[in-house]
Amino acid sequence: VNTNGFVGAADTDYSLVDTRTRASSDLTKVKNNLGKTYLPLINGEYVQTDEVVDSVNPSNKSEVVGKIGLASVEQAEAAMKAAANAFKVWRKTPVSERAAILRKAADLMENRRPELSAWIVLEVGKPVREADGEVSEAIDFCRYYALEMERLDKGVNYDIAGETNKYIYQPRGIAVVISPWNFPLAIAAGMTLAALVAGNSTILKPAETSSVIAAKFAEIMVEAGIPKGVFQYLPGKGSKVGAYLVNHIGTHIIAFTGSQEVGCRIYADAAIVKPGQKHMKRVIAEMGGKNAIIVDESADLDAAVVGVVQSAFGYSGQKCSACSRVIVLEPVYETFVQRFVEATKSLNIGAAELPSTQVGPVIDANAQARILEYIEKGKTESSIALEMTAPDNGYYIGPVIFKDVPANGIIAQQEIFGPVVAVIKAKDFQKALQIANGTDYALTGGIYSRTPSHIEQAQTDFEVGNLYINRTITGAIVARQPFGGFKLSGVGSKAGGPDYLLQFLEPKTVTENI
Ligand code: GLU
Repeated sequence: VNTNGFVGAADTDYSLVDTRTRASSDLTKVKNNLGKTYLPLINGEYVQTDEVVDSVNPSNKSEVVGKIGLASVEQAEAAMKAAANAFKVWRKTPVSERAAILRKAADLMENRRPELSAWIVLEVGKPVREADGEVSEAIDFCRYYALEMERLDKGVNYDIAGETNKYIYQPRGIAVVISPWNFPLAIAAGMTLAALVAGNSTILKPAETSSVIAAKFAEIMVEAGIPKGVFQYLPGKGSKVGAYLVNHIGTHIIAFTGSQEVGCRIYADAAIVKPGQKHMKRVIAEMGGKNAIIVDESADLDAAVVGVVQSAFGYSGQKCSACSRVIVLEPVYETFVQRFVEATKSLNIGAAELPSTQVGPVIDANAQARILEYIEKGKTESSIALEMTAPDNGYYIGPVIFKDVPANGIIAQQEIFGPVVAVIKAKDFQKALQIANGTDYALTGGIYSRTPSHIEQAQTDFEVGNLYINRTITGAIVARQPFGGFKLSGVGSKAGGPDYLLQFLEPKTVTENI
């Protein structure tokens, strides 16, 4: 329980036979339901589309998880009109009612937990334990943002004798949510629920490769009682539908999580005030990372090796929080590299649905090709310490460790978003911090150390949004580690934290002379 009474959802305990049985029977059920068609939800109706694409299982390319109806620009326009219309009532709907819908959604997700995990496992190739953790995060977003909106709804009172002064929060209008495939349920839900509970009509445009899971979330929102037009599910091409929504004069808020390139384009596009537009758009963009863990000479190497392996190779490195650089001080460098390599060799690579799998596939053919290209570039600028082989029936890439990587090398600077780590040697701790800060990003960072002065200095000088000391640097928990970065890692305040909802609200001061 944290300060405002929030209690996080517990992950599934797979040591219990019952939970394992249910997980496997739900996986079978989901597998018997593959290949169905999912259509956009506009103004409370599922609508037919001209274009339909397959969403395939990255662990097994021949398995079509679902067929996605891609919305057209005309349908995006219809969604905007419906959202504008629904906003008239939703903005005045009491916070208690909006919060109740989020809490109902949380309960529905909890009831469907093993099934939702199975969809995540199959559609985006995330190993089951991590998929289960993601469902917990989605549930936490529902309950935490419900509680947070109730807190903010009380406003602030600045009354004095003869004059009342109320400071209150109002919704802004229409929110466009553009969500990523790597946390296809949690991040899509988090951004959407924040916008909704704050009283905004919301259009969710999920990443193409995870539109089935987003459709499951849409089903849940409908079942939880979200009024028609208030929430709309709009799968479509980012370059067409996404761009249309971002540029629309009726859009007030854009909440985006994804690549730096797309985030920067959205930020620029949103800044242009178009004819007929009567407000400035607000952009919340969570972009990439090139996150480092510093291992100093006083570190507990047992802990550091495990922490780096999990942070770097969990979900095949496809988290913006993932560790992609390890900066090791000279005295422990050789020992660390050797032990890191040995520990990584023990990882099981395979289909995400197998309980023994620790490293599954990457998301799709493009990602696979891009990562392989980075591995080739890495070979020209540093040396390989480990290159693991991987199965070839899906989009697999075995973990790769580069050592003696120059701090300004391509693989030490650019976000790869795959199971590739650059190990960099540093002379001393000051140099290590300088290397750690020497990228365009500032998202997560870690330090393994038992030297108080290093730990203290890292807290002030390590340029990251989330600093982790002597632990893994991924897996932030709602209302425990509010998550988000700065520099070119993004704009906006932290998801799962006390400032997040403010971005979806417009404060108003009401003064009455009495
Ligand atoms: N919040 C996630 C974590 O702490 C990462 C989110 C992302 O990859 O976008 O691991």
